[in-house]
Amino acid sequence: ADSTELDRIAEARPRPERLEVGPIIASAVAGGAREPILNPATGEEIGTVTLAAPEDVEAALAAAQPWDAAAEARAEVLTRAADLYEEGFGEAFALLALEAGKTLPDAVAELREAVDFLRYYAAGAARVEAAHPAGPRGVFTCISPWNFPLAIFTGQIAAALAAGNGVLAKPAETTPAIAAWAVERLRRAGVPDTALQLLPGDGATVGKALTSDPRVGGVAFTGSTATARRIQAAMAGGLPPGAPLIAETGGLNAMIVDSTALPEQAIRDIVASAFQSAGQRCSALRCLYVQEDIAPGFEAMLMGAMDELSLGDPRDIATDVGPVITAAARDEIDAHVAKAEAEGRLLHRLTPPSRGVFTAPALLRVAGIGALEREVFGPVLHVSRFRAGEIDRVIAEVNATGYGLTFGLHSRIDERVQRVADAVEAGNVYANRNQIGAIVGSQPFGGEGLSGTGPKAGGPHYLARFRAAPAPEFT
Ligand code: NAD
Repeated sequence: ADSTELDRIAEARPRPERLEVGPIIASAVAGGAREPILNPATGEEIGTVTLAAPEDVEAALAAAQPWDAAAEARAEVLTRAADLYEEGFGEAFALLALEAGKTLPDAVAELREAVDFLRYYAAGAARVEAAHPAGPRGVFTCISPWNFPLAIFTGQIAAALAAGNGVLAKPAETTPAIAAWAVERLRRAGVPDTALQLLPGDGATVGKALTSDPRVGGVAFTGSTATARRIQAAMAGGLPPGAPLIAETGGLNAMIVDSTALPEQAIRDIVASAFQSAGQRCSALRCLYVQEDIAPGFEAMLMGAMDELSLGDPRDIATDVGPVITAAARDEIDAHVAKAEAEGRLLHRLTPPSRGVFTAPALLRVAGIGALEREVFGPVLHVSRFRAGEIDRVIAEVNATGYGLTFGLHSRIDERVQRVADAVEAGNVYANRNQIGAIVGSQPFGGEGLSGTGPKAGGPHYLARFRAAPAPEFT
């Protein structure tokens, strides 16, 4: 499509009126505090969310039931929900842009992933029931992050439901509207109101209550590693023994580019891995290692490619990099870049738009990944150099972070690719391509170490964790 046609599509996307969302539970809603929903691209208030009151959380916990239907019937309902998602794609794109700052390509990919999760787990419902006849866990709490507010939110819920559980879903604070959109469709498709309830609210109150109650049989969580630790502690005090925590957490992801790499391809993949979605992906590239002999020219090319990125409103079809999620997130990212600048390590930075919550894509020099204390969740790429013969040192540094989400390698030496892939401790290793993105069914996604518990989402083993363990045999 040429750009005028794309402009017409962008124009035709529905613009929701003021958003009004709140808890969706099996009984009447009491309703707690009301908070604004903000558009990160403009800073404008686009709606209001009513948070779940303590009475709503208690009512939802009391009403929650496993989904008492045959596996085939559950699969049919989830498949119908996938159809309803697809029919509502225009609304979904608009909500993802307005509430989460997603560009159109990001929003399209996210809707596809959500739909794929629904269909994939629906297809596994009967199989997992036959393989694990002890039954569902009961009621699962599903807690999701704002950076994939539709795909991850839907994936967790679809898995728990496909395995026969009931679900208490707590969306991220900043993205309640797309969560409500999804729950409405799942309910309309036929998920009973006691099997799926939505409880918007913050982590410390609603999240805590839903991860420390003995009526909950397990927790699916995606978010930061620090939050996963808090949830694990809360669960230990309240949930039945053996209740699983299925956690997908943060990453400190690296890529190696050696002197045999194809530079144009590597640059394109680096730009996508580091700056797409404004770097707000758990899988995003944070630390690039370039072989010293090619580094000066390669880094100059990379800066040139960064200059081609267009920053702006995600609803504008020309935008490559949209806003970051909140002013607080922006300030944290900007402080990290300012510190590097003061230390003489800022190599390149773009100019952000003056309106909205934007931070500029930046390239920083760093000694190695070990110098990064934590995940900087934005469009900031760190670059380090290594000499021929130092690849083992680089791998040791990467493994020493303790994280293990994604890793990338650009090299045309097959035997090196194999050796590095074997030695790196990461859930997803990508050779000669970008390191973001997963494909439900064929390319499952998940981390090791501090990056997650496994099993990989969208993979063949995921559903089994949502079923009860068989009773121990007497000996
Ligand atoms: P976060 O940990 O701040 O919040 C995630 C969710 O946890 C939110 O819904 C939040 O309200 C809730 N929460 C916070 N404190 C809680 C508590 N004490 N008890 C219960 N729930 C609580 O993370 P975020 O900022 O929303 O998301 C970004 C993070 O998520 C990054 O670290 C990123 O790497 C990670 N992430 C990982 C994956 C993956 O697949 N591994 C995918 C996406 C994002």
